[in-house]
Amino acid sequence: MLDEHEIIDMLKLRGKDQEELFAKARKERQRVFENRVVLRGVTEIGNTCRVNCEFCPMRRENTRDNATFLADEKTLIESAEDIKDSGINVVFFQAGEIPQTTRVVGSALPTITKMFDGDVEILLNLGNKKRSEYEWLREQGATSYIIKHETSDPDLNLRMRHETLESRLKCMSDLLELGFKVGSGGIIGLPGQTLESIARDIILARDMGIHMCSFSPFVPAPETPLAHLAPGDVDTTLNALAASRLVSPDWLIPSVSALAKNRKDGQKSGYLAGANVMTVNFTPKRDSERYLIYGKNRFVVRPGYGSGLLAELGLVPGRSVFAGKEALPEFA
Ligand code: SF4
Repeated sequence: MLDEHEIIDMLKLRGKDQEELFAKARKERQRVFENRVVLRGVTEIGNTCRVNCEFCPMRRENTRDNATFLADEKTLIESAEDIKDSGINVVFFQAGEIPQTTRVVGSALPTITKMFDGDVEILLNLGNKKRSEYEWLREQGATSYIIKHETSDPDLNLRMRHETLESRLKCMSDLLELGFKVGSGGIIGLPGQTLESIARDIILARDMGIHMCSFSPFVPAPETPLAHLAPGDVDTTLNALAASRLVSPDWLIPSVSALAKNRKDGQKSGYLAGANVMTVNFTPKRDSERYLIYGKNRFVVRPGYGSGLLAELGLVPGRSVFAGKEALPEFA
């Protein structure tokens, strides 16, 4: 089992040593998933948030100045139809953290599950909620949930999110106990963050027993208190992805669009470093322009973009490994 020091050493690698790290990570990905990259179809369903994260343009203090929206049940169902038509069976709904999303998402899920004839994974990223709300969402058909710890350093977490790490981990435990497949992860390049802290992010995710893990480079977004800072280091982020693959070979690890925001071929490099998830965006254009997660000029992966990139890398787009007809027996 890899320890903190070994992970720190991996995070520092560059040049030929970094290539070797990536090759090892790809080998592990191939062993568990062969050349399958799971495609997720995401719809961003609301851009208001009760939390005030320092790095996020959708933070509470910006609500007054942002053009806000919350999708209704009909929009969710229409998006799921578009996702189904494109051959993807991971329906992913994501929003800022507000209580109203529980009702709108939960109400739409039975129709969506029926639409796919059960051959679907419903993945949510709606933030901290009460255990009873998670329980209801699970009963309505939700399969999986992303709840990133962002940083495992409790002080930094409090400074960046104005929330306790403990409250986040409690939600993660609730979700795991309720049978969700759970995703976590962190941001690389937060002010004051150390390599030790990033290594502990990976160890925390492993120790929590989660199923998916992602790392994104910090993006200094406009209209945030951190707008003036330098972006997170892409190489360290890629090394964190590769180290994650070696720590837990069976994790789903996305190559996130923020990698492409900070470096032109960043997302491609994510797959070279062992990632195996691609998120394709199905948010209606009117809402997508208002979903300001990295500011207005974010890079959005639209249907059609992904297959070319994957083919170039000898990878193939795949369906859910957690649910539906092509789930892997060891994951279902
Ligand atoms: S990162 Fe998430 S929880 Fe934090 S302010 Fe943005 S939407 Fe809200």
